[in-house]
Amino acid sequence: MLPNQSAKVIETDIAIIGGGSAGISLAAKLKHQTTVVIEPKQPDERDVSWALWAKDDQLQELGSAIKGCWKQWRLVDHQREILHNSDDYHYISLSSADYLRNRESQLAPSTKLIRDYAEHIQSSGCGGNFSVSGQRYHAQHIYDSRPPKMDKNGLKQHFLGIEIRTKQPLKETSIATLMDFRVDQSRGLHFIYALPFSDRSLLIESTMISTSLEPMDWYRTAIDQWLKDQSIEIESITREEHGVIPMHETIAEDSSLTKIGAASGAIRLSSGYAFTTIQMQTTKLAAGIEKGQFEVPQVISGTINKLDNIFNRVLVAEPTLGVQLMMKTAGALDAKGFSQFMLGKATIKDWIKVILAMPKIPFLTQVFR
Ligand SMILES: Cc1cc2nc3c(=O)[nH]c(=O)nc-3n(C[C@H](O)[C@H](O)[C@H](O)COP(=O)(O)OP(=O)(O)OC[C@H]3O[C@@H](n4cnc5c(N)ncnc54)[C@H](O)[C@@H]3O)c2cc1C
Repeated sequence: MLPNQSAKVIETDIAIIGGGSAGISLAAKLKHQTTVVIEPKQPDERDVSWALWAKDDQLQELGSAIKGCWKQWRLVDHQREILHNSDDYHYISLSSADYLRNRESQLAPSTKLIRDYAEHIQSSGCGGNFSVSGQRYHAQHIYDSRPPKMDKNGLKQHFLGIEIRTKQPLKETSIATLMDFRVDQSRGLHFIYALPFSDRSLLIESTMISTSLEPMDWYRTAIDQWLKDQSIEIESITREEHGVIPMHETIAEDSSLTKIGAASGAIRLSSGYAFTTIQMQTTKLAAGIEKGQFEVPQVISGTINKLDNIFNRVLVAEPTLGVQLMMKTAGALDAKGFSQFMLGKATIKDWIKVILAMPKIPFLTQVFR
């Protein structure tokens, strides 16, 4: 919609473009600034599973958005099963819709959520002008969380998932299956991710780590085959989700704006996990804003990005090693070490364990490439 040129421009301290994971998390933490969050979608239009490793205090904070919680998780291939049993961390799955709704309900009176697209965005310094629903705004500071553009040939994690009600009760509900590699590996690194929410409710995702996407039916066939192998029958499909998560450096929608969330590189390159890093980023940023510091903190260190990039280059150069690399990473660590590794908080000792477990020649080739 074209902005009404004669209408008054609304002034605001902060504008957040996109009220997804990063945008709404930041907005909910700002209490003393005039803020507008612009988000076109309702939470229900984007209900997916956001999973993470969480400690007890985070369980409290995430409360009713938690759909499933496991103290045990496993990775499986044709040779072995690695089972982690954790006292420190829980693997949890959130309903993104519940999380977004919950954060929207916590917005301060000085924060306005506008359900539309931001358009005609012009940056100037840290802020700029934009219009929403024909109304022109000027913000002192703009934070842009619109999804970044992916490199067509870059490494990606892409998946299709279905949440089902099963005909018979599931035999095992206390273990989250993070990666089951006993599936077709002919097109790239492929695994099934399965979260039992109850004895009759299961999320199953066919996930690929490769450079090209597959037709939707390909993931569906993989899910059907896996369910057959597990002797699990579908009574009904309650939800479907699919996604593409970049595992490479992306290009922002508008490079002149300050980015937050995935657009700012908050996705862990080797795993696609971003929820925890986005929480860290928005918590630190909100605390900074309260003190008049508006810079977005870097939450994934340059060293981790470099190591993850090497790992990913090995995956691209030698996709047949993928299963082995994932199994060796998990096998080198105990449950706590693995959780911290996935959260980007691994100790030097755990990094050394992982590096020693990796096949040396493929890694050295990529280090010196
Ligand atoms: C299906 C899926 C499952 C995932 N699962 C996990 C997981 O289990 N664990 C994990 O850690 N990470 C996961 N991720 C990765 C990551 O956590 C998410 O992508 C997360 O949503 C990124 O948050 P964000 O705020 O950067 O972007 P988003 O949540 O995508 O928010 C960007 C927002 O910008 C809005 N927007 C776009 N254009 C405009 C515009 N012009 N004006 C205003 N708003 C606009 C969009 O509507 C969107 O809501 C998943 C990603 C996907 C896609």
